[in-house]
Amino acid sequence: MPRPLVPFSQYVLKLHSRCDLACDHCYVYEHADTSWRGKPRAAPEAVLARTAERIAEHARAHGLTAVHVVLHGGEPLLAGRAAVGRAAELLRAALPAGCALDLRIHTNGVQLDESWCDLFASHGIRVGISLDGDRVANDRHRRFADGRSSHGRVLAAVALLRRPEYRDLYAGLLCTVDVENDPVAVVDALVALEPPRIDFLLPHATWDQPPKRPAGMGETPYADWLLAAHGRWTELGRPVPVRTFDSIHRTLRGRSSLTESLGLDPSDLVVVDTDGSFEQADSLKTAYDGAPATGFDVFAHALDEVARHPGMVARQSGLAGLAEQCRACPVVRSCGGGLYAHRYRGDGTGFLNPSVYCGDLLRLITTVRDRTAPATAVPAQQARELTETQWEELAEGYGAESTVRALAAAQLGLTRRLVAAVGAGSPGWELLGSLDERDGAALDAVLAHPYARAWAVRRLREEPGADPDALAGLAAAAALRAGRAFELPLPVRDGAVHLPTLGRVLVVDADAEETVLTGDAEGFTVAGVRVGPDTPGDARWQPVRRVALAGGWTPALEDTDPQRDSHQWPVAGRLDDEEWPAWAGALREAWELIGRDLPGYAPGLRAGLSTITPLRSGPEGRDVSAAARQAFGAVGIARPGTAPILALLLVHEFQHVKLGAVLDFHDLFDRAEARLFHAPWRPDPRPLEGLFQGTYAHLAVTEFWATRVLAYDGLAGGPAEHARVQLATWRGHTARAVEVLAGSGALTALGTRFAEGMAAAVEPWLAVPVGPAAEAAARAESERNLAAFRARAASGVGAG
Ligand code: SF4
Repeated sequence: MPRPLVPFSQYVLKLHSRCDLACDHCYVYEHADTSWRGKPRAAPEAVLARTAERIAEHARAHGLTAVHVVLHGGEPLLAGRAAVGRAAELLRAALPAGCALDLRIHTNGVQLDESWCDLFASHGIRVGISLDGDRVANDRHRRFADGRSSHGRVLAAVALLRRPEYRDLYAGLLCTVDVENDPVAVVDALVALEPPRIDFLLPHATWDQPPKRPAGMGETPYADWLLAAHGRWTELGRPVPVRTFDSIHRTLRGRSSLTESLGLDPSDLVVVDTDGSFEQADSLKTAYDGAPATGFDVFAHALDEVARHPGMVARQSGLAGLAEQCRACPVVRSCGGGLYAHRYRGDGTGFLNPSVYCGDLLRLITTVRDRTAPATAVPAQQARELTETQWEELAEGYGAESTVRALAAAQLGLTRRLVAAVGAGSPGWELLGSLDERDGAALDAVLAHPYARAWAVRRLREEPGADPDALAGLAAAAALRAGRAFELPLPVRDGAVHLPTLGRVLVVDADAEETVLTGDAEGFTVAGVRVGPDTPGDARWQPVRRVALAGGWTPALEDTDPQRDSHQWPVAGRLDDEEWPAWAGALREAWELIGRDLPGYAPGLRAGLSTITPLRSGPEGRDVSAAARQAFGAVGIARPGTAPILALLLVHEFQHVKLGAVLDFHDLFDRAEARLFHAPWRPDPRPLEGLFQGTYAHLAVTEFWATRVLAYDGLAGGPAEHARVQLATWRGHTARAVEVLAGSGALTALGTRFAEGMAAAVEPWLAVPVGPAAEAAARAESERNLAAFRARAASGVGAG
């Protein structure tokens, strides 16, 4: 079967083939490939126009919704303002409607001034700057031909980009590693410039031209350097994303890499040189003279032809395209054999080798893995120490199984303490103590029930209706799970004996307030009802029912526990013979959709959402749903009319559950903050916690609608247009809310990290095309809400 073609979505367009610096580590002029000598200095208009047409043709053919183009060189600013502006115009004009352009320029910065920034702003071009760290580090290589330092000029360029009017243009800093530089000084210098992102690049090298390894620096100086940088970055609270480290963290969790130099993701990048020739990655210039060449050019060849070039195919072959040693390597999914160019050896094996940085990569990845290993064996009460990777997942709105289990373990510890605080001396307390000694797992299964904590908190707050005797029900349920023989008087409430997590027994005697339950290894007897494996079913026994879903998720549809009335909407009664199967069917469909379309949310949901509590329909049949801060692991939902909306409500509400669990132990903002803030989806001002919660939940809502829009794939009609309006609305609200949070001045370092993670998570969905009508509808709603907020703020209701 022919291999499916991987379309190109990333383009490097060379605008100028010369440079005004003479960096001695530059792969263009200082390495094996000398093809630059025969290329035009500047790309002529004909090359720019044809390149734009080729990219547009390819985007149309493959239905691409976004392409990323980096204007590059040499030094692209040498091409002049007119050429840079023209390139941007041609690219934008050629792309089909529905295909977004992410346009960047990668410059050494020495010529960057206000007029360049104005030009970039008018064409929507974001700017990446090469800077190797502090002055000592940068001067080691990045000098003018006459030996002068470029450091001051580059810092001036970065200072321009940090000015408020240009801040949006600032894309990040690219730093080439030199092991003789001080990694801590480099990290400090780069972080001080507040870049949106830092990229560390290994110097280009091959087995024939190995990287320098200074004497006395050990076997893996690049790993040592990067690990020291990683340590410093972690110590500083990971103030900015670092693509190298983020890629390792992501690939260790089974997610995609953010860089071609790590991971097994197929490369979808192609280079267009100043003469219009298509080339493979620029890094191949380091391998041998002519290595990047494909023999194709924009005038005679379509990009589909280029994608079938053997060199391109090799860079897209994942595991199968790697050397045997790599295929057997324990970290291959994170490493991916390193950058393709770094595998080259001129002994006939070509690129079928491990990276020349193999030892460094192995040590780097395994050490980062160990530093961020999930806390699987950590006892429950201590499990609230999350790893760096787990924080990263949560900050972006996700949370793998191990992450959510760690949150759940911390919640269990909290519930245990709360139950102990309010339950000591109550009926059932002694039984509980003895279970804790010998049958801790059975006790934990009951205390992990979301409404156990809800009850304890109600008792602590001395809320009316918080039954002081309900502890006996918890103890009895745990003892039955443990198969204990026991007798315990249990309260009768609302005509039933309640056994949390197991069910309820209806009591015929309307005046009874208490009845004795007798438990044994096979079951129990209470109020004349026998429940056990060999006993015929009794309608008075109403067990908690679970829905068995794919992948082993078995959430309870909780319709018996009186404490389930903990959400902001009234709960439904016991589900009848029509409603129960309708719920079960809707959940199966919703779960299938979540697994397929929202894979970043599914594992956490399965690990942490134990209980779904049916609610009554909202006013006028509205969809209503809620999470309760004191009931980790539960969400309340009125069954909506369709399974996709049920999926949406599940992921939305579980975001609140996760964030609530984080907030129980960690400060994301100043809790004394009393101002109210604009929540873009509401007309009324909100406290900071409400804004944080809403933003976090709407990350999932945005992703849900983005997947619907992509599934409709440009179709016209009601549902497709509805999805587009929803996406335009929620991604706008979420992105703006993140800005409000980030600008609140009230976030802690961890809160800032969450704001950055949320911004990064919503970013890909901002590029999904929705069309002008949906954009206009979203804008109108947003403006209405903002106007209402401002009116209230002006009248003294809100501030923020
Ligand atoms: S660490 Fe070495 S052997 Fe393992 S995948 Fe990377 S380059 Fe290959």
